[in-house]
Amino acid sequence: MWVYRLKGTAAGLDPLIPELFDRGARGLEEREGEVWAYFPAPLDLPFGGVWEELPDEDWLAAWRRDLKPVRAGPFWVRAPWHPVEGEGIPLVVEPGMAFGTGHHETTRLALAALARHLRPGEKVLDLGTGSGILAIAAAKLGGEAMGVDIDASVLPQAEENARKNGVSVRFLLGSLEEALPHGPFDLVVANLFAELHRELAPRYRQALAPGGRLLLTGILAEKAALVKEGLAEEGFSPLEEEGEGEWVLLAYGT
Ligand code: SAM
Repeated sequence: MWVYRLKGTAAGLDPLIPELFDRGARGLEEREGEVWAYFPAPLDLPFGGVWEELPDEDWLAAWRRDLKPVRAGPFWVRAPWHPVEGEGIPLVVEPGMAFGTGHHETTRLALAALARHLRPGEKVLDLGTGSGILAIAAAKLGGEAMGVDIDASVLPQAEENARKNGVSVRFLLGSLEEALPHGPFDLVVANLFAELHRELAPRYRQALAPGGRLLLTGILAEKAALVKEGLAEEGFSPLEEEGEGEWVLLAYGT
């Protein structure tokens, strides 16, 4: 694992964040006046940062050791080795390289929103499934869930997580385009980023059944207006807006 260290704060470097993810960053962390972007291998990046190689095993072992179970909406999200305790619907997530351990605000916002919006038996698409956590949560709430991701490396982890939770979820390589033939969906939950939601807004409509709802997160509060504008242009109606830290989740209806 490699880290690309940039001087500054996540808020100050905000315009770079989608670019870092577009170029393959697996995660970002703010650390004492720097932003650390994690990549599987170093690249030629024009942002003035410094590359450093992290010993994979130490980094992973330390991260796994420090990970704590977390409460998100009605869910109790834990790693397989955590004791089975805590109230709530258990969600077991093996922390690997895929995003979605429940420790990020956006995942928690989406888990809580799923519990408020999903009715048993509904068809759910988790767009950008990562660890599979949202699709698995949807299945635990009685939904018929599908997860898609453009990163093939996360799918075996998502499948393994579904197995550990004893639920059946279909995972596919791809994005909204690849999911459309499996729709329409009653609920689309997507933890991506503001610019991508804006771009996908016209196709969200195609993915939804009449009465369908969107749960969109991965949106920095200051960029919410961009997403709202795209959704309004497509005739979606706002249902609710929830925030945690600098992140928001927007729920919209058809
Ligand atoms: N759903 C998990 C969660 O909420 O914790 C993971 C969200 S993670 C922030 C975003 C995921 O979306 C990554 O696994 C990434 O590979 C995937 N992704 C990025 N762009 C995508 C796209 N256009 N279509 C589908 N997946 C995408």
